[in-house]
Amino acid sequence: MRPEILNPVFADVTALPGVGPKIAAMIARVAGSRIVDLLLTPPINMIDRSARPKIADAPFGQLATFLVTVDRHDPPPKGRRLPYKVICSDETGFMTLVFFHARADYLQKALPEGEMRLVSGRIEDYSGGRQMVHPDYIADPDKPEDMPLHEPVYPLTAGLSSAVMRKATANALSRAPVLDEWQDAAWLKAQGWDDWQTALQSVHQPTTQTDLSLLTVSRQRLAYDELLANQLALLMIRKARVKTKGRAIKGDGHLRRKAIAALPFDLTKSQKHTLKEVFDDMAAPDRMVRLVQGDVGSGKTIVAFLAMLAAIEAGAQAAFMAPTEILARQHMESLGALATASGITMEILTGRDKGAARKTKLERLAAGDIDILVGTHAIFQEGVEYQNLAFVVIDEQHRFGVHQRISLTQKGAKPDLLVMTATPIPRTLALTAYGDMDVSQITEKPPGRKPVDTRTIPLSRVDAVIDGVRRAVAKGEQVYWVCPLVEESDVLDLTAAEDRFESLKALLGDRVGLVHGRMSGSEKDTIMERFYDGALSVLIATTVIEVGVNAPNATIMIVEHAERFGLAQLHQLRGRVGRSEKASSCVLLYKAPLGETAEARLKILRETEDGFLIAEEDLRLRGAGDFLGAAQSGFPQFRLADISVHTALLTTARDDAKLIIERDPDLISERGKALRVLLYLFSRDDAVKLLSAG
Ligand code: ADP
Ligand code: MG
Repeated sequence: MRPEILNPVFADVTALPGVGPKIAAMIARVAGSRIVDLLLTPPINMIDRSARPKIADAPFGQLATFLVTVDRHDPPPKGRRLPYKVICSDETGFMTLVFFHARADYLQKALPEGEMRLVSGRIEDYSGGRQMVHPDYIADPDKPEDMPLHEPVYPLTAGLSSAVMRKATANALSRAPVLDEWQDAAWLKAQGWDDWQTALQSVHQPTTQTDLSLLTVSRQRLAYDELLANQLALLMIRKARVKTKGRAIKGDGHLRRKAIAALPFDLTKSQKHTLKEVFDDMAAPDRMVRLVQGDVGSGKTIVAFLAMLAAIEAGAQAAFMAPTEILARQHMESLGALATASGITMEILTGRDKGAARKTKLERLAAGDIDILVGTHAIFQEGVEYQNLAFVVIDEQHRFGVHQRISLTQKGAKPDLLVMTATPIPRTLALTAYGDMDVSQITEKPPGRKPVDTRTIPLSRVDAVIDGVRRAVAKGEQVYWVCPLVEESDVLDLTAAEDRFESLKALLGDRVGLVHGRMSGSEKDTIMERFYDGALSVLIATTVIEVGVNAPNATIMIVEHAERFGLAQLHQLRGRVGRSEKASSCVLLYKAPLGETAEARLKILRETEDGFLIAEEDLRLRGAGDFLGAAQSGFPQFRLADISVHTALLTTARDDAKLIIERDPDLISERGKALRVLLYLFSRDDAVKLLSAG
């Protein structure tokens, strides 16, 4: 149960004065639907009206506040649609205040003739005179508090005015409770940080541009709160999982020995090291959840397969889940020979299995006649019963949301879990996203891979590139040609891919295929399979080919409008070639002129193939918020912290969280109780639920 003290800020924003359902809907878009969301949404800018020039000295167009005498009202003649004017002056000159659609009675009250007033706004030149159209504020000089000299500016959306958002947030702030301190007293003092309430108010009341920095003491304090909540929650989830006993899986190695003997290559040092970590986890009685991070082509599949064999040696079953049908089929194919060599039974189950065939497979699975079930999420659907499932591999984890990961592991017995991702994530980010898992990294690639020759070429020279494609195809090579598809519904981009398809088909005939996101799964698969079989030489695609697929004979990757892709995405695409001993190349076609960031991105790709390095650079160029954006599901979004800036705070938060869990695992000390409030404040109810009452 959420602590009562937080209830006022967990109310709906409609509880705030002046916020009805319509405004609430707009606020929900920029901040969230509860009052706390406003508290946790810091200003992105500020308005400074503290400049106090005289009328004659005021620069045009700049925001300033003036002390003036109201000389004379000049209302428009009755029936004429002219503006209402009020003439004011100070000792240096005159200015005209201009009001359209004005209400005379209001203006006479606000600007009484002969009195002094503060007016704030921008002065403009109007045929030689000075005028101010619709001052932002008019105030009595005896009540200067009616005119805020500094105002925060919040993220906005169409229809939501700055004033409304500001008022809502100010009202939200007035409801922010004083909370018991959850930070360690010594640490707080060493950092020179204020209490939460003070820091919160201060972040929302910037009076200089510097106050908007992510590095103010107040902002750092709030960022640290958020990071600590994140790290604490992850460690609690992890601890709760470890406590749920898994089973000790310890095979005798006889299947693994057969498989390794049948491998046409030696495992790399990285692969061996990762396998040792996995086998140790499996052998321990605790439940295993381990992430294997390895760049495209680093050889994760064989690692997964050998781990599954260990489970089978121990008399259990294993499941291997891939994000797409095509990838599942590829795993099935590429592992087929090894399965035969080790004498185990591997079967595939996808959404396409129907009727009697599916029923038979399910029966064999339930009877334990299938050792490894490969497939899409279909392998965990209702009605799929395993006889003795002890080990689950999830390939290309970033394609599945975190929620899917959780629902899957709650099913039935608690199998050990191995998740694999080729998305290289900077260490810092891995900590926030995968802090609840153990992580292994495959850092080296199999020997003998030739570097991919990467070039950037302006689109104006596309004819030369097409000519190169023609020659390569004549030599029997295969080519990927990727066109951007920003959104699935983006008709324009689809047209681009179709146009490219038509123009290449005119040149190369029916050895050219097209796949795009609007095709059905089986349509896509049919075309891709023809490419893998070699029936097609050129595959035009929107980014649907990004993940996991393996066509070793493909040697050329062309990306059209490379400037529109993210770094990580380009790296993934390039990873589709260079998968054999043949020399490969990657052509990044860009539309000139390139912006600075796009230029920097393409340069990094030319210079390195190291996915981790690329990820670090990507983070640096984009900032954390963007890096973790919509493209990658399952990552936490921070509102106050920015991991590319608050990196050191994150590491400290990690250590802090570890210490807390060691000393006060149930969060029952004074600080522990305050930390529970912190977790609720950042909506980590999931973690608090794991605690026993107290
Ligand atoms: P990814 O990590 O991207 O999933 P894969 O597991 O698909 O990579 O492996 C890519 C290719 O490398 C496959 O053809 C695989 O057989 C091969 N491979 C894996 N490990 C080695 C190794 N140690 N030596 C040589 N080739 C390897
Ligand atoms: Mg793979």
